[in-house]
Amino acid sequence: VGSTDRPDRVVGRLEVDALLVTNLVNVRYLTGFTGSNGLCVLGPGLRRFVTDFRYLERAADEVEGFEIERAPQEFLAALGAGWDAGPLRLGFEDDALTVRQHRRIAELLPDAVELVPAGGAVEAERALKDDGELAAIAAAAALADAALSATLERGLTGRTERAVALDLEGELRARGAEPAFGSIVASGVRGASPHATPTDAVIETGVLVTIDWGARLGGYCSDCTRTFATGALPGDLRAIYDLVQHAQAEAAAAVRPGPTGAQLDAVAREIITTAGHGEHFGHGLGHGVGLEVHEAPRAGRGSDAVLAETNVVTVEPGVYVPGTGGVRIEDLVVVTATGSRSLSGLAKDLEL
Ligand code: ZN
Ligand code: ZN
Repeated sequence: VGSTDRPDRVVGRLEVDALLVTNLVNVRYLTGFTGSNGLCVLGPGLRRFVTDFRYLERAADEVEGFEIERAPQEFLAALGAGWDAGPLRLGFEDDALTVRQHRRIAELLPDAVELVPAGGAVEAERALKDDGELAAIAAAAALADAALSATLERGLTGRTERAVALDLEGELRARGAEPAFGSIVASGVRGASPHATPTDAVIETGVLVTIDWGARLGGYCSDCTRTFATGALPGDLRAIYDLVQHAQAEAAAAVRPGPTGAQLDAVAREIITTAGHGEHFGHGLGHGVGLEVHEAPRAGRGSDAVLAETNVVTVEPGVYVPGTGGVRIEDLVVVTATGSRSLSGLAKDLEL
């Protein structure tokens, strides 16, 4: 997925003269470069891309619209050259640069170049997906759905959480993707932990199993969660499932351009709180998904990010009752002009 007008759009957002981009995901988004060592500098009429000798060939293949520079022995030293005289405010990604790197860059740059914290500009642009990106995320989501469906055909009861997670990851890889993150398979009381890691515990009959998984395909991620029952459930768990399913449906129906992440979060949180489980919904409602599985915009308490058309966000309320179990249901949705479109195709049936 390449788009050479992305740097222009980011430059349009800048409140500085130029931006030094060191976050590799942002470098990839702007230049197309997929290697592990590179940076770029952009501003009006300014497109510098710097990498080391290992990646020159890859950069020549991948990087579009930037001057490619080979770094001297010390990677950052390349920044010292190439600045004409005259004052310049150079933004840097204060959420991506280490203190040591910042100090070194400040030493290398001419005195006329002032380093100014300017993180978030590329992330704000990344939150708006173009058609190619939307297609890539939809393809990852469809692949992930197929992988889980294949895994579920072999059943859950009697297998360990780890075996199910390995099976699922194998299905993702067999279809040409890789796991976007470590898959969560949490059964019984372990479902009360939102980010449980799979254990060697055998999945029993009559419990809830939460599976949170995603595919990374062509660089783009998907993210989805389903919770299943392995047989008849105690009434309290059944009620929690129905509650989360209702809250998830209402929050998903509220997705459209305009509300803030906090307002969207509140739709699900009010339903869950009214039912007496507010304290058991301890995480935010959702997050943006793209080149990273967690990116802008965030939807949670305190998020003033305004939802916009072409955002891709998760809607994933959960209720986690310590010592009992938990439920999370997560869909991946695209914000459209008037509402949203779900990329998560699997039904939300409690029974398999
Ligand atoms: Zn998830
Ligand atoms: Zn998620």
